[in-house]
Amino acid sequence: MQLKKYYINKYPQENGDYEVHASGSSCAWMPNSRDRIYLGEFESCDEAMMEAIKHYDRVSGCFYCAYECHPKSRVPSNLESTTNEY
Ligand SMILES: [Zn+2]
Repeated sequence: MQLKKYYINKYPQENGDYEVHASGSSCAWMPNSRDRIYLGEFESCDEAMMEAIKHYDRVSGCFYCAYECHPKSRVPSNLESTTNEY
């Protein structure tokens, strides 16, 4: 599996979430270099989110370049409160 570089925006979305982006997908929403924090290289956005949460309390994957970690891609019935076993 290919590693991607992940970044988190220093500035929150309107809903208060800090958005995580992956490089290499030419995402139009990738923040400028001065407006982002480098998280590291990861195989999946899930790993990137675990790093991102160390920086900010509320993080979510970009709809375009980290869709697997975008809140809307989560299955609603899969409640995190009951399956949170990290
Ligand atoms: Zn993105």
